[in-house]
Amino acid sequence: MRPLTIIGNWKMNGSLSANQQLIQAMLGLGLTDLAKSARLALCVPYPYLIQVADLLANSGIALGAQDVSDHPNGAYTGDVSANMLQELGCQYVIVGHSERRQYHHEGDGLVARKAKAALQANMTPIICVGETEEEHDDGKALVVVRRQLQAVLDLLQGQVASCVLAYEPVWAIGTGKVPTPAQAQDVHRELRLQLAKFDAEAASKVAILYGGSLKPDNAKDLLAMPDIDGGLVGGASLNAQDFLALCQAS
Ligand code: PGA
Repeated sequence: MRPLTIIGNWKMNGSLSANQQLIQAMLGLGLTDLAKSARLALCVPYPYLIQVADLLANSGIALGAQDVSDHPNGAYTGDVSANMLQELGCQYVIVGHSERRQYHHEGDGLVARKAKAALQANMTPIICVGETEEEHDDGKALVVVRRQLQAVLDLLQGQVASCVLAYEPVWAIGTGKVPTPAQAQDVHRELRLQLAKFDAEAASKVAILYGGSLKPDNAKDLLAMPDIDGGLVGGASLNAQDFLALCQAS
């Protein structure tokens, strides 16, 4: 039985005062209690990691970042290494989010190397895959996510059990459109089958999250699917009540 995993992705949102209010509201609503039975984390912008680490101390809610360099250190102006994130208390880091793939031209190989860098620093990479609207309309969703996952499997070999996967159809992110639970389940099952060819035990353990316009009113049906183990939540993670409702939805 895989535990429910709900990860908030604040993206490029927040301020010192707004972060404090949001987390205090989340804790005030009882998120710490939910963290006893579910795996919860918030992935926040780099400048707020120290602040949020402090606010989340002893809450059972883990800290995460939204990207990481694939290099350990050196002349990479503007980049942040896995060891730096780990030193600040991050347990998770998102890699391969479609906004990174789209706006920063990150390819499958780089995403795989970032996942490897995270694992080497004892963090859990949350590896995102998902097809664009055009690929979806062309019926290519499975081909695309298989290719994206394969690049990771080729590099990480036996380490996939220590990763989290997230299926995020690009056309569903921030749009209010969501696949039907059956459509999402088909992709999640396919990803798990692909993992199983590599490592059957890891495949049964790895959490595969759904992301893309996940809201309290659609979460119950999606999270009820056998291969959907939780959510990667953008917009709804910026509202304490919505985030709590999502964590309670399964
Ligand atoms: P959304 O974003 O929930 O706002 O659609 C999800 C994500 O991009 O991780």
